[in-house]
Amino acid sequence: MTPVNTRCLIIGSGPAGFTAAIYASRANIAPLLYEGHQPGGQLTTTTEVENFPGYPEGIQGPQLMEDLRKQALRFGADIRTGVITSVDLSSRPFKAVASDGTEITAESIIISTGASARYLGLPDEKKYQGLGVSACATCDGFFYRNKRVAVVGGGDTACEEALYLSGLASDVFLIVRKPHLRASKVMQQRVLDNPKIKVLFNTNTTGLFGEEYLEGAHLVENVGTENEQHFDIAIDGFFLAIGHQPNTKLFPGVATDEQGYIVTDLPTTATNIPGVFAAGDVADPVYRQAITAAASGCRAALDVERFLMANPL
Ligand code: NDP
Repeated sequence: MTPVNTRCLIIGSGPAGFTAAIYASRANIAPLLYEGHQPGGQLTTTTEVENFPGYPEGIQGPQLMEDLRKQALRFGADIRTGVITSVDLSSRPFKAVASDGTEITAESIIISTGASARYLGLPDEKKYQGLGVSACATCDGFFYRNKRVAVVGGGDTACEEALYLSGLASDVFLIVRKPHLRASKVMQQRVLDNPKIKVLFNTNTTGLFGEEYLEGAHLVENVGTENEQHFDIAIDGFFLAIGHQPNTKLFPGVATDEQGYIVTDLPTTATNIPGVFAAGDVADPVYRQAITAAASGCRAALDVERFLMANPL
């Protein structure tokens, strides 16, 4: 493979990565962007996006990402399908290797690798993936009209997903490991007031079952106490909503907070390594929206432009 030198390597292709590519291209930086495992990022697994400004009628997630990609290409971004498999940030220019073997040297890097949904870690989750197990109610809820579903988690995401599913499914169980919800009060109230949602407090999932498709879950209530009780529920859909894990494994030297999100020197997108910037969900434990990711991609590209001017190689 021919080695590639770039002034800016962008890793990841969600709204943050593509927006960074648009801005960096228009600044004549000629960025190289690797799309990663899920080209287009999390929005490609959603259906309609109604809150991205500029689309009064809403837009399909995959279409929005395709449009952002085309916009970056129009200004000359070098967008490649593939995954960056290793990165050496010990000195500038930084070094990286892509899954096709391409060796890259980069004067700067924008990390926009996003975050991935957390799973419980049960082997059954893999077995029924796509056959009843999902980590995105808005993507897959449609398939569960008039069926029985469960959502795992007690935070705002879990409550939001349970409420969303209550508009489609016949019954929704919310499986919460603690005796209380962690979500905001208003979300808690909406869930508790919803006649279709049954909250199972102090409950953990121990396994899933079903012939071909998911048919139910094995649960345990009050685990480890004298009131421990094992029981099953019949469900067709099992939705994980137990938080997200920022994708930072590739970057061991980059400082993260206790949840694993990359720490940036706000209001900039600079990380602890000069020349390395982070944008989007990988550095955002709070907002995690397409529009905030896009905005931070813009900031990262502007930060790169200034950095390259001040630190020429
Ligand atoms: P949170 O971290 O807030 O909640 C995760 C939930 O999953 C908690 O109830 C946690 O339980 C539970 N959980 C974690 N691990 C396990 C496990 N192994 N087994 C069972 N349950 C588990 O994540 P969210 O994604 O809900 O929210 C992330 C951030 O985004 C929050 O700041 C939230 O407020 C925000 N958000 C805001 C929204 C809005 O305002 N509309 C919508 C969605 C998210 P426990 O409580 O026991 O730790």
